[in-house]
Amino acid sequence: MKVISINPRGFCKGVNKAIKAVRAAVNSTTTKKPIYVIGYIVHNRFVVNELTDLGVITLDDTVKTRLELVEEINSGTVILSAHGTNPLVKERLIEKNIDFIDATCEDVEKTFQLIKEYAAKGHHIFYIGKKNHPEANAAMSLTKDVTLIETIEDIPENILENIFVTNQTTFSTLEIKGIIDKIIENYPNTLVSEEICNATRLRQKAIIDTNKDVDLCYIVGDPRSNNSKNLVYISESFTNTKTLLIQSVADILEIDLLNIKTVSVSSGASTPNYLTKEVIEFLKNY
Ligand code: SF4
Repeated sequence: MKVISINPRGFCKGVNKAIKAVRAAVNSTTTKKPIYVIGYIVHNRFVVNELTDLGVITLDDTVKTRLELVEEINSGTVILSAHGTNPLVKERLIEKNIDFIDATCEDVEKTFQLIKEYAAKGHHIFYIGKKNHPEANAAMSLTKDVTLIETIEDIPENILENIFVTNQTTFSTLEIKGIIDKIIENYPNTLVSEEICNATRLRQKAIIDTNKDVDLCYIVGDPRSNNSKNLVYISESFTNTKTLLIQSVADILEIDLLNIKTVSVSSGASTPNYLTKEVIEFLKNY
């Protein structure tokens, strides 16, 4: 069986920065302990578990908001995740006199600045993103004049003018085009700043370029990772390749490898390299 290792893949600059920030806080003698992270620092449970082993406390709850989780913290230092944070969370941490380190990725921060800038100029924002994703939640908290658009069906019908469009940085490059085209069709004077980050763009392009004659593709990533799920979507929809999301080598099923001559492997931007290497090694030795 031929095994193709797709590149680029794995950790992006924003994920590296966020993990480094947590490790530096753990090792610092001056940073107040314990170290908290509200939500997953990056969307990968192996990363979160490794940091837990270092004493980092991750507060993650599907019911409570991040603002409510702040009320459970009374000391130490909070690291704010790569996906960005509701400004009210920062305000509450300041009120409670709790130190925090903001590890928001600079590409995410850029979209937040655009939202604030255009909302201040009187525009209504159409934010293209995934419902309940922390980056989209943070973006939606920046202004009241914003509508979340996940699919074409979410575009309001000619009720708003003066529209500015931007998006979640990890959205699919191919899906977004149809949504933006439809918005412009409905609102011809719309201003658009498409902000899919370079890491997402390059990882998606590498999959499209590689998976032309591949029988099976594995994406190593966490089910919570939007960019990992998008890699699966892109591979299946645009290269017609059977594509499976796995968290580690333990998820590979022999039945999926029956009659497979060529397999490719990539990973999400929050997947540690060693997990992907283990998958590649397993497949090479299979
Ligand atoms: S995927 Fe892009 S936006 Fe998200 S952390 Fe990585 S570089 Fe930043």
